[in-house]
Parts: sequence; C-alpha cells; structure tokens
Amino acid sequence: MGAQEVREGFVRLYGAEPDGVWAAPGRVNLIGEHTDYNDGFVMPFALPHIAVAAVSRRTDGVLRLHSADLDSGVAELRLDDLTPESDKKWTAYPAGVVWALREAGHPVTGADVHLSSTVPSGAGLSSSAALEVVVALALNDLFELGLQGWQLARLCQRAENVYVGAPTGIMDQTASACCEAGHALFLDTRDLSQKQIPLDLAAEGLRLLVVDTQVTHAHSGGEYGKRRAGCEKGAALLGVDALRDIAYADLDAALARLDDEEVRRLVRHVVTEDQRVEQVVALLESGGDTRAVGPVLTAGHASLRDDFRVSCPELDLVVDTALAHGALGARMTGGGFGGSAIVLAEAADVDALTKAVEEAFAAAGLKAPRVFEAVPSAGARRVG
Ligand code: ADP
Ligand code: MG
Repeated sequence: MGAQEVREGFVRLYGAEPDGVWAAPGRVNLIGEHTDYNDGFVMPFALPHIAVAAVSRRTDGVLRLHSADLDSGVAELRLDDLTPESDKKWTAYPAGVVWALREAGHPVTGADVHLSSTVPSGAGLSSSAALEVVVALALNDLFELGLQGWQLARLCQRAENVYVGAPTGIMDQTASACCEAGHALFLDTRDLSQKQIPLDLAAEGLRLLVVDTQVTHAHSGGEYGKRRAGCEKGAALLGVDALRDIAYADLDAALARLDDEEVRRLVRHVVTEDQRVEQVVALLESGGDTRAVGPVLTAGHASLRDDFRVSCPELDLVVDTALAHGALGARMTGGGFGGSAIVLAEAADVDALTKAVEEAFAAAGLKAPRVFEAVPSAGARRVG
C-alpha cells in the first residue's frame, strides 16, 4: 500500500488529515547470522517491502493504533497504562516504541497511527522491526526528538526485548533505520559503527533471490534463547565479554580450551561467521567479481546447519536445490527454523532455478515457497 492510500485510510478512520506519512523497510541479511548478540558483524540490506504509517500527534496521553492489514479495529491505549509484556497482540510493537521513548525521557504525549505493511510477516524479513522503526521515526519527527537512526534502532530493540518480550539482537532495527538504496550495511553490532557498501548486483548480471519457505517451526523462540545462552556460556568459559573478541586466528586455540562439544560448535560458528562477513566486505570493496561472494554464503549455510544447528529441512531443500541448479551461493537468512533463504545467481539462471525450487517443494509435499528478487532499497524515511 502506498503513502497516499495509507493517508486516505487515516482520514477515513480518524476524520482528519495525518500530520505526515513515514515508511520503514524489512530487511534481508546477506551474511552475518546469529552474530548480532555476540557483539559481532552483520551485513543486511533493506528490502523494497515497507511498513507505511500515517501519524498525527496527540497531547492528551492517548495512543490510537490501527493496522489496515488486520481486522482487529482501532486499539485505544493510555500512555500511563503501558506495561511491559502485558500485550500479546500486534499493538505491542508500536506501543512498545512509545513506551521505550517515554522511558528514555522523551516527551511523547500521544498519537493516532494508521499503518499498512508489505513486509511478509513471520518470514524472517523483519516485519516487526519495520513496524517499530516506522513509528519511532514518525514520533521522532513529530515531537522533534532529534534522534539519529542508530538511536531509534536501540530504542526499538528495547521495545521488542522488554515491552514485547522477544529477545532479538540489534540488527533488524538498525537495518530498517539506517540502510541506503544500492548498498548493504556493514554493521559492527558492538558500537553500531557502520559503513555503506555499494551492492549493485544487476550491473554484474547477477540476482539475489529471497525464497520464503512459508514455514515457521513452533520451537524457534525457545531455540533462539538456547543458542544465545550457549554463546554467553562460551564467552564466559573463554574469559571474554563476547564471542566477537575471539579473533579468527585464535579460533583453534580457543576451541582446544572447551570441553563441551555443543559450546565448541556455537563458538566455531560465531567466530567463522564474523570472518565471513569481513571476507564479503573485502570482496565487495575490492571491486572484483561479486560471484566470489557465492561460496562464502554457502559456507555460512553449512555452518548454520551443522555447527549452530538452526536450519531445517525446508531451508536445506532451498539451498541444496538452488546449488544443484547453478546458483553461485545460497544460505538461510534470519534466525532459522523456517523463514527465508537467499540465493545468489546469474540473471540468466533465475527462471530455471526458481522452477527447480518450486518443483522440489511440490515433490516433498510442501506448500509452494514465495520467491522474489531482492534489490537493496532505501531505509526508513518520511514519504508524505
Ligand atoms: P518477522 O519480524 O520475522 O516478520 P516477528 O514474529 O518478529 O516476525 O513479527 C511478526 C509480528 O509483527 C506479527 O505477528 C504481528 O504482530 C506484527 N506485524 C507484522 N506485520 C504487521 C502488520 N502489517 N500489521 C500489524 N501487525 C503486524
Ligand atoms: Mg521480527
């Protein structure tokens, strides 16, 4: 839904023009998975899929929320009543942002919000971060808070961790807030320092496909928590603040100090994955052939499947089928246990490859996956 449609929806709903309209994208992560809660490196880029919100300021301590994509009506909340983990519905995401802003001392006094999103929900493409960031950016402008993208991202992460009650790292919100069109974002999640890395795949005759498996395995939340705890245990056993502090050159020595096989596997994934992000950055910055990124993506998948153990049969099927049909590289993206995979391929191979993946899913008795091309798009911005 475009800015104009969302504006018109706001007028129908609330009987007045909104103060403005904002957009924030979903993201796909090129490389750097399960590193963002280990103070490591990630490299997401923004999707053309966006959450769009028409918003007006209020001064009476009331927050009204409406999503055009659900039939749950308008939720009316009082700012003074906002309590962490009290809301199990979608409204927890935008309400959590208001809560986090106020907790941090920002003078937000209420708002009317009407939004709609084209980011597939629950597909590992960060529809939740898009919702949070679009509301945060709108309030930042309307209440003249003067916060920068990375600061809004931190507040949105706090909204999701504390208010919604979902443990997530900082990547999704930073990607939505800070990405730029035509670039991937090389982000150091320790200090949020960032570098925009040009990524023009079409110029090299390449395409990056996103394959949404349309499956989410129910235990994903619990498994995420276990991996996080395992990583923290590894860091503690090795005497570092975070696994990011283990240099790639010191990996073997670090592994030799660990008895617990599971912790060893987790540590190995995180340290090699940070190395893979740096490798991809070096490849892209060298101006050489981007095809060389392919095998790094595939190595990342093997590490997530065998060491970190967060893949699933559907994601492996996408990766294996794509590689068997000429893909340059492929890997799961996002947290795992369902969601989406990415495939780097020659433009000329895309149709045959897509067909092969669809046929493999049909042969396995699975629902058809959703396949689309991902072009690095703009981050959060005002659109009306
Ligand atoms: P992901 O971020 O990977 O898409 P999450 O589980 O983190 O998955 O977030 C999905 C949740 O975000 C949905 O369950 C819903 O509460 C909320 N959400 C996403 N899109 C919308 C939308 N268009 N309108 C209302 N809520 C939405
Ligand atoms: Mg999410």
